[in-house]
Amino acid sequence: MIRHALITGGSRGIGLAIARLLAKNSYRITLVSRTESHLQSALSTLPDPISPGTNSSRPTSPHSDSASVTPSPHKYVVGSVTSGMFWNKHILGSSLRHEVVDVMVNCAGIGQNSLLVRTTVEDIDKIVDTNLTSMLHGIRYLVKKRHIRRSDFGDRGKVGREAEFTPCIINIASLLGVKGGRGAVAYVASKAGVLGLTRALAAELGPQSIRVNAIVPGYIETDMTADIERTSLLSKIPLRRFGTPDEIAQAALFLATNQYANNCVINLDGGLSAT
Ligand code: NDP
Repeated sequence: MIRHALITGGSRGIGLAIARLLAKNSYRITLVSRTESHLQSALSTLPDPISPGTNSSRPTSPHSDSASVTPSPHKYVVGSVTSGMFWNKHILGSSLRHEVVDVMVNCAGIGQNSLLVRTTVEDIDKIVDTNLTSMLHGIRYLVKKRHIRRSDFGDRGKVGREAEFTPCIINIASLLGVKGGRGAVAYVASKAGVLGLTRALAAELGPQSIRVNAIVPGYIETDMTADIERTSLLSKIPLRRFGTPDEIAQAALFLATNQYANNCVINLDGGLSAT
């Protein structure tokens, strides 16, 4: 059965790795980010969910004239998750129409590299809006409009391999949200908020069979960490390396698949949280 995953921040880095692995595992993907050129190239790398050995290189956008080509099973929506217009019928709603979202991955995020007193009020708002408030708005919209809902055809009451497939929300937090760190106060606060959101929502949506989980990455090789000074950091990470986006994607697939995972928080940090 083909399922549907919506991934914010899916155009590159961790979000794109999650998109690729889910597509390989029979998911149709909707990618979200602000940059259409990145979305187009990301989409062209996604495997076809029906025959995962082949690429689905037939990008379609809700805004493009695609009448003459076979539509890709995947699509993208261009927009900022922080925009009031995004999580409503005008942008996301018109693209999704009545589609169900089986897995929502909240991965869009921006970093910070400045002491709090040297960070502008606008930048603080942007970091918290992108990393935290947008998740509240996005989840609220998709659940309220019943894009995320328990299947009407579930085989309820079964256990193990035959258990009903339940929808899942996966929030990407950060080890900094647990540990703290200099030069990233707004980022740390936003990511600590993501873990609070995950806990509270797991209790609130669990009775509707909607599972809410989080991944807590340490340092991962992406654009976000490209400029970080590594030498002293690597000496603190017990495995002596940054993680890869694919290693985070494996956790996302586990959370999407394991039907008992609710408020499951997976640390993937090479052991840094133990130091
Ligand atoms: P990247 O910078 O590689 O990717 C960030 C993604 O988010 C891009 O797709 C970007 O696309 C998108 N994005 C940013 N702002 C917005 C917005 N306003 N609206 C829509 N999309 C947006 O980062 P990573 O892949 O490294 O990070 C992904 C997540 O993982 C983030 O939440 C990050 O905080 C978290 N994380 C990363 C770690 C790391 O070491 N890399 C460690 C811990 C957590 P575009 O710019 O085109 O909009």
